[in-house]
Amino acid sequence: MATQRNRTLIILKPDAVKRNIIGTVLAEIESAGLELARLKTVDADRELIKVHYREKQDEDFYDALVDWMTDLVIVGIIEGENAAERMKQLVGDTEPASAAPGTIRGKYSDDSYSRADAEDRPLHNVIHASEPGEAEEEIALWFGE
Ligand code: AMP
Repeated sequence: MATQRNRTLIILKPDAVKRNIIGTVLAEIESAGLELARLKTVDADRELIKVHYREKQDEDFYDALVDWMTDLVIVGIIEGENAAERMKQLVGDTEPASAAPGTIRGKYSDDSYSRADAEDRPLHNVIHASEPGEAEEEIALWFGE
């Protein structure tokens, strides 16, 4: 099927920031041929995080998720052929411990739902990438464009 040039939003989450793996994760994205069009540090406030995760507001982990993400994060816009779809593949499944080995979550975290539950915290999974249909809305939220 023909590819289409598009863009998507990434957020390097507080676990990635605290573990000093920002450069490593960005290198994975660049190695895949995707372009880093914008990048900035954001000291995210609760209101922004609540809007970003509004679809999860009925989940048990919602408050803990908002607390955790209200912190320093790195936010970027990734561009390229099928960039939104390829970023989702590169990021991998939500739970790092069961994400495919070649994916960012599979390579750079082994966090699991069971460990997160045992430690009474949300899952730490390194990076967020927009669902392709939500990318432009999330870019507008974080970059105001
Ligand atoms: P994402 O939309 O990829 O940014 O991921 C949503 C976030 O919700 C994840 O990073 C986790 O922190 C959290 N999360 C999703 N499912 C669970 C769960 N079952 N238990 C705890 N935290 C979760």
